[in-house]
Amino acid sequence: MPAVTEPDATAADADAGAERPHASERRPAILVVDDEPTVLAAVSRDLRRGFGERFRVLRAGSGPQALELLRELGVRGDQVAMLIADQRMPGMPGTEYLAQARKIAPDAKRVLLTAYADTEAAIAAINEVALDYYLLKPWDPPEEQLFPVVEDLLTTWEAGAALEAGGVRLIGHRYSKESHDLRDFLVRNRVPARWLDIERDGEARELLQVAGVDPERLPVALLEDGAVLERPTILELAERLGVVGAPAQSHYDLVVVGGGPAGLAAAVYGASEGLKTVLVEREAPGGQAGQSSRIENYLGFPAGLSGSDLARRATDQARRLGAELLTVHEAIALRTEGAARIVELSGAETLSASCVIVASGVSYRQLDTPGFAELTGAGVYYGAAMTEARACERQQVVVIGGANSAGQAAVYFSGYAAKVTMLVRGASLEQSMSHYLIEQIAALPNIEVRTASSAIAAEGEDGHLRRLQVQGPDGEQTLEADACFVFIGASPRTDWLDGVVARDARGFILAGRDAQNNGWPLQREPYLLESTVPGVFVAGDVRSRSIKRVASAVGEGSMAVSLVHEYLLDA
Ligand SMILES: Cc1cc2nc3c(=O)[nH]c(=O)nc-3n(C[C@H](O)[C@H](O)[C@H](O)COP(=O)(O)OP(=O)(O)OC[C@H]3O[C@@H](n4cnc5c(N)ncnc54)[C@H](O)[C@@H]3O)c2cc1C
Repeated sequence: MPAVTEPDATAADADAGAERPHASERRPAILVVDDEPTVLAAVSRDLRRGFGERFRVLRAGSGPQALELLRELGVRGDQVAMLIADQRMPGMPGTEYLAQARKIAPDAKRVLLTAYADTEAAIAAINEVALDYYLLKPWDPPEEQLFPVVEDLLTTWEAGAALEAGGVRLIGHRYSKESHDLRDFLVRNRVPARWLDIERDGEARELLQVAGVDPERLPVALLEDGAVLERPTILELAERLGVVGAPAQSHYDLVVVGGGPAGLAAAVYGASEGLKTVLVEREAPGGQAGQSSRIENYLGFPAGLSGSDLARRATDQARRLGAELLTVHEAIALRTEGAARIVELSGAETLSASCVIVASGVSYRQLDTPGFAELTGAGVYYGAAMTEARACERQQVVVIGGANSAGQAAVYFSGYAAKVTMLVRGASLEQSMSHYLIEQIAALPNIEVRTASSAIAAEGEDGHLRRLQVQGPDGEQTLEADACFVFIGASPRTDWLDGVVARDARGFILAGRDAQNNGWPLQREPYLLESTVPGVFVAGDVRSRSIKRVASAVGEGSMAVSLVHEYLLDA
């Protein structure tokens, strides 16, 4: 193999071999593999022109050569941002290479170069290798056909990499609920932070010593300005990091409660259409969707997109269009004062508005089984798949539930864990899960699906989960478990609207015709998404009879804004 160090395009064009990364080079790598030297040279040249300042472009002439190069980068601890592979290569096609490369560099974005005739293979690869994009050859002009796609993927990769490299250092015990909650808060609010496990990372003890912190007082957050926060609450940490804002206006046209897809869509449309809009979110933008490792059925994203990516994009979009976002603020009461709708927030603030859109979604249902409550955050988790995935490397993971959210989590964990066992109460997955996910699960050798099975107890050792007792078709069995993720449905948290807004028996908010039949006070009919309080609208999962999907939530959030306009015109 020729030992070349990122040659300029002209010197390298004739060479289709692999190049070795330069020892002192620290820019993240884009690795391109193609067996045709002219194509390899052309794509490398274009990528260097577009992205050479931030990334180094490495090349290989075959899948095996590229895999060798990837291992070398891995050993040196170099970052790999993107893998680009031609589909038609002798010996090892692009999809096979990407499948193997994924195991070595799981976080790198994966792009397949295809000719029109290979489109079918590319679409199949979306599932097989979690492909991020397929690029049709030729890509001329690169400014239109290549750069925008690559830039978008690299920006997404950079957002993730920056988060892991960054600013705050949080030191704690992996199996401590307080540590988990702080970590989850930082990840979901996209605060650049590095997690240091006191049991695994030698650096953690050194840092504690330097900071003069007693290891008994974990978790500890070390901030960039030198501040040391021992056992901070989420609110304390959020305030110190400036994540919590204060309302900028005394009166808004629109207050949106909830920062899931419905609320974010309402904020984007409200602000873009000139309404003074503020969004209040209890935890972090993204809602349930923010917990999803891969949303596959959202229109326009054929390769799927992760919930955190969707949340990041939507949050940026809402802010750019002028919406105010107040995170770590919870709406705790609603009242009317003449034409104004007043939302009371935890922390004694209030927001006054002409209209309110309630988009507070649903929360995970807790499992009422012995041991689960005590071990929550210490091996037992609700949602949290993205936050905990890395900590589950080579471990025994159990996923409880048989719906799509459980299936997605199982597929995601299979990329990290030694084994994933799914405990499904029903007789088969077909009753509760989409076909595409069932196929993905069947193709993954380290996922075992146990149907007609439920956990009847969780048992811990040294304060964290060790095993589950499982009742299944063969009676009671013990299942070793380092982590257990529970996805057994969700229910709305709408108690704060008690006595103000009419809800159905399960707590979902009534709207439109349902509101009209349940105490609607005016002569005119309520608008389609209007609750029993005029000017208070509802969107997304929290609405009675809603369809629990990202697309419907986004649709309802944007539709609610047009109804707000109608309401304001009539008022
Ligand atoms: C793991 C998982 C995977 C999924 N995968 C898919 C998928 O692939 N495709 C698909 O279409 N759907 C999927 N779904 C469903 C989809 O995520 C939901 O339908 C969608 O998120 C609903 O959006 P929403 O905005 O109505 O509510 P939510 O997403 O529930 O957001 C509500 C937000 O409101 C906040 N909030 C609640 N109460 C208050 C309050 N009082 N004050 C302030 N803020 C508050 C919450 O913290 C939350 O952020 C998945 C769900 C899960 C859990």
